[in-house]
Amino acid sequence: MNAPARLNAQQHDAVTYMDGPCLVLAGAGSGKTRVITQKIAHLIDSGVYEAKNIAALTFTNKAAAEMQERISKLLTEPKQASQLTISTFHSLGVKILRQEAAELNLKDRFSILDSDDCFSLVQDLAVTTDKQTIRRIQGVISLWKNGMVDPVVALKNAVDDEEAQAARIYQNYMATLSAYQAVDFDDLIRLPVELFRSNDKVREKWQRRLRYLLVDEYQDTNTCQYELVKLLVTGAGKKPMFTAVGDDDQAIYAWRGATIENLKTLQDDFSDLKIIRLEQNYRSSTRILQAANAVIKNNPKLFEKTLWSEHGLGEPVEVSSMPDDEQEAEQIVMQLSAHKFERHAKFSDYAILYRGNYQARIFETALRRDNIPYTISGGQSFFARSEIRDIISYLRLIANLDDDPAFIRAVTTPRRGVGQSTLETLGAFAGQWQCSLFEAVFKGGIEAKLAPRQLTPLREFCDFINQIEERASRPGASGKGENAAALLDELMHEIAYEAYLYDNFDERTAKTKWQNVLEFTNWLKDKSKGGKHEDGPEKNLLELTQMVALMTMLEGRDQEPDAVHLSTLHAAKGLEFPHVFLVGVEEGILPHLGDPDTPAEQLATRIQEERRLMYVGITRAQRTLHISWCKKRKRGREIVQCEPSRFIEEMKLDEGDAPPKEDEIITPKDRLANLKALLQKPKAA
Ligand code: ATP
Ligand code: MG
Repeated sequence: MNAPARLNAQQHDAVTYMDGPCLVLAGAGSGKTRVITQKIAHLIDSGVYEAKNIAALTFTNKAAAEMQERISKLLTEPKQASQLTISTFHSLGVKILRQEAAELNLKDRFSILDSDDCFSLVQDLAVTTDKQTIRRIQGVISLWKNGMVDPVVALKNAVDDEEAQAARIYQNYMATLSAYQAVDFDDLIRLPVELFRSNDKVREKWQRRLRYLLVDEYQDTNTCQYELVKLLVTGAGKKPMFTAVGDDDQAIYAWRGATIENLKTLQDDFSDLKIIRLEQNYRSSTRILQAANAVIKNNPKLFEKTLWSEHGLGEPVEVSSMPDDEQEAEQIVMQLSAHKFERHAKFSDYAILYRGNYQARIFETALRRDNIPYTISGGQSFFARSEIRDIISYLRLIANLDDDPAFIRAVTTPRRGVGQSTLETLGAFAGQWQCSLFEAVFKGGIEAKLAPRQLTPLREFCDFINQIEERASRPGASGKGENAAALLDELMHEIAYEAYLYDNFDERTAKTKWQNVLEFTNWLKDKSKGGKHEDGPEKNLLELTQMVALMTMLEGRDQEPDAVHLSTLHAAKGLEFPHVFLVGVEEGILPHLGDPDTPAEQLATRIQEERRLMYVGITRAQRTLHISWCKKRKRGREIVQCEPSRFIEEMKLDEGDAPPKEDEIITPKDRLANLKALLQKPKAA
């Protein structure tokens, strides 16, 4: 059944316009994403496009999953939703690469390196251990890649020695990746772009396949992503067909190479671009919207926009100052519980949003202490844990025996008698023969370099991996290799990881780590069956590893059904929550100011981006918004004094929204205590 589409006149125009390229440019909560979902349903139901020819690109896996679900509810035939391509740019890139690997001289079992692996790689190539230098080089390489600048051009255009040095590292970096048969996250988009540029046949094949493109959060696409869109929609005798939606005030990825200029480029590149503006906000109360508008007014405007809401004035935006970060976490969690109790709300109605990933930990602890379920997104909180990365290294190695970083991690964790000097000798030998470490273990001549006591554990390890790898790909009942869940169990048993944890960590830590591992493997098993509802396609081990690599990039685990959302502001983009706690709103955190020596002009640009981030944060809230800042906070071992963020002042909260007096902050605790006491009181006989 088709759900009745509630659309205003402008939204309706955007949904039904099918004559050419279309850009919806509008503020937060104005229904841009809704336009995308409704439009997909319209494209199909009008009979002009088939589901399999439509692709929608989102910014996070979570947004993609949510969109998929929303659309299946809208379609006359919900089954068609599974034929749609709804994914992030990166997932689409993987899909293209997997199918066209041969065209790129890539074997179809290529590995996807995450940013930690790339960090180690740059570290090796740059011959330095200074983390900041490595990160800087890593950042520059990423910007070059996303800007489609190849190493030769980068070197030629280098303005100083430092940049020239980075360009040389870039060149080696690329060579190493290709020797590893590996790609990094930037390649997932850059390589398809290169392929489409150089190979018309392949490009036309994908154009026939993806005939209508929709792009959400368009303001955050970078040059490379824009190029991919352009290559997919333009061609000789082809009318470009796509709908992009975006909001320049929510552009928060400039640091990753996204350019707001893309919004303007679009108008230049597509002269018949139809631009539609939406002005009504359907998400937030008027007070919340006013605060958001007041903040963003301090940024220069690219496009004029006005946003209004029909929802009532709503509750005042609250601001609290907290004595320190620990008490902030404790207070917020208590306020949240009391609030939930009073309003009969669900945990999932609440979000705690913060600027940096590191801020999550203290809230996690406070929530855990009170047994409040929560999920984390935007952090690598779960996947970045060393125990999870250990297990992932095995999976990656099984998926690609030439994945050297994975080899090194797996062969040394748990230790199996393979020492650093053995690995160095092996590495030198592999370098000499231009082969992977795994291959080197069995290559003729290695016996002359390594003593039997060094070589034996290496060979045993490789035999073991080989055997699992073979079984993972040997056609089983499903025709796709042995059951991933059973293999995973066997792997865990064989490597004796649990014992390793108890040997190397104190009991409590080992226990927590092992529980994390179990949670991870259970989750993997669940995924191998096609997800919770078991309706997706069954996955083999190789497919699982590639999926994991992608997930670790931007977000965390699957959502629990009723849990408080802990999220960075970046990862909260596009989402909405009835009640939002925006925490740590201090100078130096939000806005994050970075290096004190940053030149004034650069600093001004940064503050504008931080302001957009604040705008994103405020506009996630539907009904209540609570802002907090700390007077003191721990940074490393130091305690630093903090000032409220300039953005709080900019919100221009009126009298009714004035910060509560400090002694009032305690109230929720008492209120909660009272509520708890009330609950525990035995009923009068
Ligand atoms: P953001 O910029 O934050 O991504 P958005 O512009 O994509 O926001 P949506 O998430 O699509 O906004 O919509 C915000 C909320 O308003 C959603 O809950 C959506 O269902 C609701 N909404 C959008 N359009 C309408 C409408 N015409 N009638 C009623 N509700 C609407
Ligand atoms: Mg949206």
